[in-house]
Amino acid sequence: MAERTVERRPLVAGNWKMNLDHVEAIHLVQALALHLRAIEHGRLDVSIHPPFTDLRSVEGVIGADDLPITLGAQHASSYAAGAFTGEVSVAMLRRLGVQLVLVGHSERRQLFAMDDDAVAATTRAVLEGGLTPVICVGETQEQRDRGQMAEVLTAQVLAALEGVPAADSDRIIVAYEPIWAIGTGVAATEEDAQEACRLIRQVLAGARGEVADRIRILYGGSAKPENAGDLVTQADVDGLLVGGASLEAESFAAIVGATAACYGQ
Ligand code: PEP
Repeated sequence: MAERTVERRPLVAGNWKMNLDHVEAIHLVQALALHLRAIEHGRLDVSIHPPFTDLRSVEGVIGADDLPITLGAQHASSYAAGAFTGEVSVAMLRRLGVQLVLVGHSERRQLFAMDDDAVAATTRAVLEGGLTPVICVGETQEQRDRGQMAEVLTAQVLAALEGVPAADSDRIIVAYEPIWAIGTGVAATEEDAQEACRLIRQVLAGARGEVADRIRILYGGSAKPENAGDLVTQADVDGLLVGGASLEAESFAAIVGATAACYGQ
């Protein structure tokens, strides 16, 4: 197994997708806080990404108890303000205490026609607004079967970096999320996750130089307590983006615990 040569602070991020109203959200955060209290996780970041309508309530719970949880969003507009019905700006999110924004999740790409240009524009908007983009990339099963994984990941990473100032290169996070693993219960093997994350780091290095060593690269796709430890021990896997298993406090906390255990806690 490849050695981890650079220390990067791991991140375990929970993507709630379009689940839980703001009352249910409060209950989940409170339960999560209880579970996390039993886990030493000071060496890693934990974020949750609720729906927009939950953010204010979740921010209130996190703030009131000073919980060690970073607030994230699932999407943001690439526009600053104006006649964009249904959109939510980065400034609005920042005002709510949001620090991380998922950009180009495969469900946005596939179901809402978010193309590479929109991913790049949103990445720039998030950075300009002072927040951190978590840029999601990943191949379909068909692309993998045709041997196009490297080509697809390379194109998606380079496209997302378009127009991102060099000085902001180390402010991004990348999430490798093979589409065939999302919500299917079939995660990538740790070897496949490592291979893809290593490739992404090489692409980042080619485009941005040695800063690539400091950029966090997450794996996402059917991560659960049983496979979390094997995935995050890989040299280029710096944490997990978790969908389904983040909707229950116990399983999400167990994933945080498994990750913390791999980082010496
Ligand atoms: C996701 O949607 O980002 C995700 C990783 O989902 P799941 O963990 O449910 O596969």
